[in-house]
Amino acid sequence: CGIVGYVGGQSALDVVLAGLKRLEYRGYDSAGVAVLADGSLAAAKKAGKLVNLEKELSTRPLPSGPTGIGHTRWATHGAPNDANAHPHLDNAGRVAVVHNGIIENFAALRAELAERGHDLASETDTEVVAHLLAEEFSAGGDLAEAMRLVCRRLEGAFTLVAVHADDPDTVVGARRNSPLVVGVGEGEAFLASDVAAFIEHTRDAIELGQDQVVELRRDGVTVTDFDGAPAEVRAYHVDWDASA
Ligand code: GLU
Repeated sequence: CGIVGYVGGQSALDVVLAGLKRLEYRGYDSAGVAVLADGSLAAAKKAGKLVNLEKELSTRPLPSGPTGIGHTRWATHGAPNDANAHPHLDNAGRVAVVHNGIIENFAALRAELAERGHDLASETDTEVVAHLLAEEFSAGGDLAEAMRLVCRRLEGAFTLVAVHADDPDTVVGARRNSPLVVGVGEGEAFLASDVAAFIEHTRDAIELGQDQVVELRRDGVTVTDFDGAPAEVRAYHVDWDASA
């Protein structure tokens, strides 16, 4: 239901958790985060309110790192439990993905992945994306390109945000029939389903268009369509009062 992504000089975990709090008003049944630190990926997820996730993080802290993603879930496929909460990881634990929306053709993709030896750990429509991204990434070594290739295979409505431990300074997002906004700061960048998540850090925003992929780095953002062609972006300044 809510998505946040961050890359920059602050603690990604702190920025992502604060962003998820700003999105709580939308309602959700589970929450989770993933951060990249020292060449590895660490994730935590819990059914229930953000306070459950924070409790989990206080007993089992995640390392501090500059790149992270977070999610609040409103379950459509699979019960609202810890295993079905996002982020979802590939079997090697190198890629993490969060998703809002529904992937209509997930059953066919699950069957295909199972045949290729992937072990799926949840009942969600989302998890296939983590496995497909891992496959495409290992073929080409570029997370944005992997995301474009995967999105071309997906049907339905989705906002997707992903990170890969082998591409540690990048957050990649994609959208079709579901909102995703970029926030551009000084040496940092944000992704969220709603500007409310990052408004305390920057008011310079870019609204992603239909069927676009964004690559977020500390020094800037690149937006393309699902075929890799540079996309026209709509940049704007958020001027409403965020304290309201
Ligand atoms: N369809 C996904 C799930 O059930 C995402 C739900 C959402 O938008 O939060 O896990």
